[in-house]
Amino acid sequence: MPQYATRQRKALLQFLQAHPDERFSARQIADALEPEGVSLSAVYRNLAALETQGMIRRAPKGGSNEVFYRFTQADACKQHLHLSCSQCGKTFHMDVPATNSLAEQVAMSADFQLDRESTVLYGVCGACANEKKAEKYRRT
Ligand SMILES: [Zn+2]
Ligand SMILES: [Zn+2]
Repeated sequence: MPQYATRQRKALLQFLQAHPDERFSARQIADALEPEGVSLSAVYRNLAALETQGMIRRAPKGGSNEVFYRFTQADACKQHLHLSCSQCGKTFHMDVPATNSLAEQVAMSADFQLDRESTVLYGVCGACANEKKAEKYRRT
C-alpha cells in the first residue's frame, strides 16, 4: 500500500478512536479530516477496508438512509451489550454483570441465546431525555 494511503487510514482510525461512543457518516469524517488532506473518496475506501477488518462497525441511524460508522473496541465490546441513543447517536457500553443478567433472563424466559456482539438496544439517553423535558418546559 502506498505511504499516503497508510497515513490516511491511520488518520481515519485515530479520529474514530478519539470519539469511540459517537457515530459518523463518511461525509462528517471527510469534513473533520479535510485539514489532513483526506478526501471523501479516500474516506469511503478506508471505511470499507476497516469494516472488513472488524475495526469499525456500521451504526444505522433511525430515519436516515446515510450509513454511519463507529469504532469498535473489539475485545471488551464482545463481552457486553450496547445501548444506542436514537436522539444523539451516542453509544453506551452496558457493564458485563448487567449484560450477563439480561442474557440469562432472556435465555431462561425465552430459551434464546443473545448474540452480544451484534445486539444493540435503542432508546433515549439521560442527557437527551433531560433536554426534551427542558424543551417542553420552555414551551409551556
Ligand atoms: Zn462496548
Ligand atoms: Zn442521547
